[in-house]
Amino acid sequence: MRCSKCRKEAVIWQRYSGLHLCRDHFIADLEAKAKREIRKHRWVQSGDTIAVALSGGKDSGALLHFLARTFGERRDVTLLALTVDEGIAGYRDPNVAREIAESHGVPWHCVSFAEMLGTTTDRIVERKGDTRSCTYCGVLRRHCLNAAARDLGATRLAVGMNLDDEAQSVLMNVLRGDATRLLSSQSPMTGVVPRIKPFAMVPEREVALYAHLTLAHFEEGACPYSSTALRGDVRTLLNDYALRHPAARFALKNLGEELAGVCGTAGELLKICDVCGEPYAGEECRSCQVLREALEG
Ligand code: SF4
Ligand code: ZN
Repeated sequence: MRCSKCRKEAVIWQRYSGLHLCRDHFIADLEAKAKREIRKHRWVQSGDTIAVALSGGKDSGALLHFLARTFGERRDVTLLALTVDEGIAGYRDPNVAREIAESHGVPWHCVSFAEMLGTTTDRIVERKGDTRSCTYCGVLRRHCLNAAARDLGATRLAVGMNLDDEAQSVLMNVLRGDATRLLSSQSPMTGVVPRIKPFAMVPEREVALYAHLTLAHFEEGACPYSSTALRGDVRTLLNDYALRHPAARFALKNLGEELAGVCGTAGELLKICDVCGEPYAGEECRSCQVLREALEG
């Protein structure tokens, strides 16, 4: 197939746009989408320090590459890479993340569950079984990322969520009947480094192709605990559906954004946890609650 724009050989067909794109036009198209998302939300401003959450996988590696290309030359924007080692044996060697950061000239920082929390995901699974491993691991990773980003002086935390992740999250909250999460807006809250998601409008397969075209290598293994997550079921369901209805993911993503915009809580008042020093909403600090549960026999 030939590129719809220049007749060179195409590397992808975008079902939702009907376009075939060659390597160069595909990269330009993806980067334009990500830049549009950044402009739309006014996510990056002069003086910002962006911490890029870098696991070393394709999504975060691609994000680091994109941000380094886009902001690497800017004197008024600082980039740094931040890796969290959850302590899952045989998965996510932090050295892969380090090499990606170093090859892009971005300073690299690594923190671990072991040193910040005194435990690891492997040890939690050993005690609790693996049915809720992603709940524990996800909450605790979020905690570590926020604390480390703030300590490093970051004003933004860039995460590699793509369109599929975003659409799955909306659908998961619908299926769980979780109105609070469905409606919670991203309004600024003290103590929380605001998250930015430049790839939120880019389908997962396009982020993967971008990673293959632009990175020398990245972590390709899957987490040994990932198959137990509800997300897996929702992904399968949505992938099947999107084959017949290519705009479904965009629709879900937009629905989530609109609901949060219309009904979103205007920055629920946060308290600072006496135990861990992190901000939290509601009755009890979620990280401390999860950590206590995880450490119970
Ligand atoms: Fe943690 Fe679940 Fe992700 Fe594995 S799949 S790293 S357990 S959140
Ligand atoms: Zn706490």
